[in-house]
Amino acid sequence: MLSNLATRDVETLIHPYTNLAAFRQTGPLVLERGHGVWVYDTDGRPYLEGMAGLWCTALGYSNEELVEAAREQMSRLPFTHLFSGRSHDPAIELAETLKELAPIPVSKVFFTSSGSEANDTQVKLTWYLNNALGRPQKKKIIGRHKGYHGVTVASASLTGLTANHADWDLPLPGFLHAACPHHYRGAEAGETEEAYSARLATELEEMILREGPETVAAFIAEPVMGAGGAIVPPKGYFAAIEPVLARYDVRFIADEVICGFGRLGTWFGSEALGMKPHSLSFAKALTSAYMPLGGVTVDETLYQAMQDQSRKIGTFGHGTTYSGHPVASAVALKTIEIYRRDKIIEGAAEKAPHFQRRLSALEEHPLVGEAKGMGLIGGLEIVADKATKRQYDPKAGVAARCVAFAQEEGLIVRFLTGDRVAVCPPLVIRPDEIDTLFDRLGTALDRTQAWIR
Ligand code: PLP
Repeated sequence: MLSNLATRDVETLIHPYTNLAAFRQTGPLVLERGHGVWVYDTDGRPYLEGMAGLWCTALGYSNEELVEAAREQMSRLPFTHLFSGRSHDPAIELAETLKELAPIPVSKVFFTSSGSEANDTQVKLTWYLNNALGRPQKKKIIGRHKGYHGVTVASASLTGLTANHADWDLPLPGFLHAACPHHYRGAEAGETEEAYSARLATELEEMILREGPETVAAFIAEPVMGAGGAIVPPKGYFAAIEPVLARYDVRFIADEVICGFGRLGTWFGSEALGMKPHSLSFAKALTSAYMPLGGVTVDETLYQAMQDQSRKIGTFGHGTTYSGHPVASAVALKTIEIYRRDKIIEGAAEKAPHFQRRLSALEEHPLVGEAKGMGLIGGLEIVADKATKRQYDPKAGVAARCVAFAQEEGLIVRFLTGDRVAVCPPLVIRPDEIDTLFDRLGTALDRTQAWIR
């Protein structure tokens, strides 16, 4: 029997990324409050939030300073926009701060309210740039299989996951997907990570040549793939890819929506992986998810092109009501102040070896084919046969079962396509809580194994 609140939910809400048919039987997990890395359901049951919500609540669930920053801005000026040259101090200061923090040269910052909008903006700016540069045929954009960049029509086209394309009439024409850089699944027998990276770079070059370099405008990649399975690229991957992009004048966009703001123990994932993109997309941990805010960085060349277009067309015809929302910007400024003052990013780097040791120890488990991560993110893959890497029938829902057992054990983790389970806790997680997380995940795996038999 579903509780009253659960029944009302089932009859009223559409839940993103939920099997809407199965959901009518299972009902929701209704959460009521949070503290530290813990969230509590309506019966008061605690769960360790091993996913930081959706890879985003970096400072945990009870940061009063963020609440106060929002309250203060709300009472002073709850809203003004950035259209037609209107402005406000939180957005100005935040753009300045992001220019300082970015690991690449940044001329300007454009704000959105989500990661999807940020990547949608990247697509539009890429097209706009090439129109301004007088090369209207250079418009194709390459994402990667299993890459995740959001759900708007353009960002879902960048995404490389079946659920975002099947029966959505996507991807749009002009969106291509290179191979997913997953050594465990993609490498040939005996192929080293470096050799695999070199092969993927060659394959990317072949794709660009096949399409015609004069038609290929940009390449987008997450430093560590998130929703596609929490997949760490093989050694030397970006070092092999970047010269190919440079050779054909293909713009490189780093989707830092998950990795930005400390996830890999550096301010941006690009630093951890030695990437040198032209632009960054960011969102999520920018505000520790206390307010919706995202954006993109704009380099000087792009900015000049945008100015030229404005001169020609009469305006820069892009932006949403909430672009650079003052309350969200104020919360972002406070979040960054806390990251700096409390050395949150350095703390994540310090805790990472312990986190990764506990994660990789799960590879000993009979069900786990791979358990790998970087910083405070990781993924494991459940397989039916470790020697052959054979997977269970997807219909069996083994990873989903494991995640359900974890929830019964008081741990929230996320199952992803390909029987993968992701872990991505708030950056403020304590070492003893890291142990609790992996103890509970181990128990969930044991229970999954017993369930399979
Ligand atoms: N890019 C990446 C790497 C993401 O992980 C996500 C969301 O999980 C997005 C983009 C889309 O962000 P949003 O859900 O805020 O639209």
